[in-house]
Amino acid sequence: MQITVLSGGVGGARFVRGLLLALRQRRSAAGVDGVSGGAESAPDTVTVIGNTGDDITIFGLRVCPDLDSLLYTLGGGVDEDQGWGRAADTHELMGELGALGVQPQWFGLGDKDLATHVARSLWLGQGLSLSQVTARLASRWGLPDQGVVLLPVTDTPIETHVVIGGDDGQERAIHFQEWWVKERAAVLAHRFTVAGLGQATPAPGVLEAIRGADVVVLPPSNPVVSIGIILGVPGVRDALRGARAPIIGVSPLIGGHPVRGHADACLAPLGVEVSAAGVAGLYDDFLRGWLVDDADASASYPAGVTVRHLDLLMRDLDGAARIAGAALDLAEQLR
Ligand code: GDP
Ligand code: CA
Repeated sequence: MQITVLSGGVGGARFVRGLLLALRQRRSAAGVDGVSGGAESAPDTVTVIGNTGDDITIFGLRVCPDLDSLLYTLGGGVDEDQGWGRAADTHELMGELGALGVQPQWFGLGDKDLATHVARSLWLGQGLSLSQVTARLASRWGLPDQGVVLLPVTDTPIETHVVIGGDDGQERAIHFQEWWVKERAAVLAHRFTVAGLGQATPAPGVLEAIRGADVVVLPPSNPVVSIGIILGVPGVRDALRGARAPIIGVSPLIGGHPVRGHADACLAPLGVEVSAAGVAGLYDDFLRGWLVDDADASASYPAGVTVRHLDLLMRDLDGAARIAGAALDLAEQLR
């Protein structure tokens, strides 16, 4: 099976890790991986198309937070409590930069994590595309061995900005990370803009992965600043509308609240209801199946979208695999 996932950072990465487990469980239940007499079949491929709107240049280094969360989570190197950054990292370099008065200090970068950004920046500077750089990093984290292809949605640098009201009443735009990390999304967002988006083209393989998939999954990722950015890259949304595969989404909201992060503060400026139904409405031109939490079973959803309800909290890897399995089951029913 060829499965394509459109992903943000932490929510998407945890879901994909569960998806890989669900696929392994299915193959072993079907005897496909058994040495004695299991039916031969081609391995599954999971293509993850990652959001790059969160990307930022800090200390001259290119940082791609969502791609890195995917790399570290799928590669077994993530800080599990945070959900991002490297496990057991130290912060010596940031400390020294702080002592030198170098800003910003609000964006925490651990020492091991910084090695990723140094390598990425070096390779980009040598003329490699972000896709090529991401492929190198993916090899370091063993993604190809797991049947995972990680693609940035675009090689064109794009950056999500948040338009807020200044103290003088004048609007001004700040980088998404400044709003999300420094301000904790507590400053009212008027709207989101994405620098570079109009000129962006999908990275090599992105449209093919959507068109050629057996199933396309939208994991529980932020609908505005993760999935919304991917959908905004010219050509991506049209490819989804024309995809032969069923497109299945998993709600990032449970009972009208984000599980983590500030998706509510992102939906408000769009005038979209902060609910599983509101998010489904953002995708109703291509969505075929929608998984919601049991708490959201009785809401009304866009016509033409098949809704299933279950416990949608990814408490652990098994929980994520259970939800991913439900997405695969629904795709099977809709195929
Ligand atoms: P980010 O880029 O790190 O913010 O991560 P994503 O965009 O991939 O995912 C963030 C979204 O995942 C948030 O809106 C969360 O509500 C959602 N999320 C996180 N954990 C869970 C979970 O266990 N279940 C569900 N249904 N959603 C979750
Ligand atoms: Ca993100």
